[in-house]
Amino acid sequence: MKVFEVAIIGSGPAGASAAIKLAEKGIATVIIEKETLPRYKTCGGGFAYRGRREMPFSVEEAVETEFFRVDAFFKKAGIHVFSERKQPIISMVMRDDFDNFLVNKAKEKGITLLENHKLQNITFDNDITLHTSKGDIKTKFVIAADGALSTTAKLAGWKETRLLIPALEYEVKVSSEDFERLSKSVRLDFDAIPMGYGWSFPKKNHLSIGLASFRKVKVDFKQLYREYLTETLGIKNVLSEQMHGFQIPVSPRTNGFVKKNIFLVGDAAGFADPLTAEGISNAIFSGIMAAESIIEGNLDEKESAKIYNNKLETSLIPELKTGLKLSKLFYENEKIRNFLIKKYGDRICEGMTQILMGERTYPKDVTKHIKRKLRNIIFS
Ligand SMILES: Cc1cc2nc3c(=O)[nH]c(=O)nc-3n(C[C@H](O)[C@H](O)[C@H](O)COP(=O)(O)OP(=O)(O)OC[C@H]3O[C@@H](n4cnc5c(N)ncnc54)[C@H](O)[C@@H]3O)c2cc1C
Repeated sequence: MKVFEVAIIGSGPAGASAAIKLAEKGIATVIIEKETLPRYKTCGGGFAYRGRREMPFSVEEAVETEFFRVDAFFKKAGIHVFSERKQPIISMVMRDDFDNFLVNKAKEKGITLLENHKLQNITFDNDITLHTSKGDIKTKFVIAADGALSTTAKLAGWKETRLLIPALEYEVKVSSEDFERLSKSVRLDFDAIPMGYGWSFPKKNHLSIGLASFRKVKVDFKQLYREYLTETLGIKNVLSEQMHGFQIPVSPRTNGFVKKNIFLVGDAAGFADPLTAEGISNAIFSGIMAAESIIEGNLDEKESAKIYNNKLETSLIPELKTGLKLSKLFYENEKIRNFLIKKYGDRICEGMTQILMGERTYPKDVTKHIKRKLRNIIFS
């Protein structure tokens, strides 16, 4: 049987980033991936600068296009706001290339990649035995980076506490006239779907167009997509389109992130941003944090778990909690949102851009902050 110190389930940005960190310290690490790489991943592929700026190496090779301006539209309020920066606010990637690029970096540093190995079961003994579709693997630690549907978390006994939202995404080829017109900017349309937004993310030769609703609403996604395409984006001629639907976990688990030497990271933990559903950056950050915790804990079970929980509680979790509160205000109170957008649209857009850029994080004590602002607005 193959034996490793750390086994990472999943080769997305969370898994690959953890693997790179562990390999740098010479820890015997394996990535177990059910697909053959490079594999398609349903995703808009918008990589925010806050994630890109923290990468320890250039990712330029895996970037299709870069956008230094982002436009946001609130049709019902009749508002259009935008922000600009000197660095790319969003870098567009195709996830098959991007994820494969990261995994190759980890391979160069010495990790083992087992593709086409689907995790099917886990036995907990002195060590952990992972039963995959292509045989068993023994390990001391497991990093669960297997995404929104995380088989690992289920097998380890986690009950579902994340908010999983539906998202639909199309890879669309349009006529050269439409592409010329739409490929110049990244746009978000907040009234394209109830309690969510639509996006048009230009790639090298096509557009990634999608819709996500941040609450469970009964709407016809396909119909709304069609309307978004024709009425909002004004696309007349679709040359080809591939539809992909998936879920995004936009709230962290409330029942812990470490159990039986299994560390949850990325979507498996519920770390996508609750307001934007931007999940690549936090997948990378949490993958690195889990790896660092195992390293800093000298591969001691209890110590490593304690370090990981501390790291999460001092950075990611407070940010996500604030994001959750803001997302409630933003998506569940359309009237208040539109009022605030009309009055402070530019400032809100600038604040969100600062977050996407990594210039700041969400404010702490947000409830107090919002209540004070609202009181001022109502009584002024
Ligand atoms: C429609 C849509 C659009 C999105 N757009 C954006 C965007 O523009 N920007 C952004 O930042 N985020 C976006 N996201 C969110 C982003 O895709 C995720 O947050 C991110 O991919 C999480 O990374 P991860 O490494 O945790 O998991 P994933 O990237 O999901 O990787 C999980 C890996 O685990 C493997 N795996 C799963 N089960 C098993 C198993 N049993 N055995 C072995 N391997 C397994 C999978 O094959 C996969 O390779 C979007 C999501 C969706 C659904």
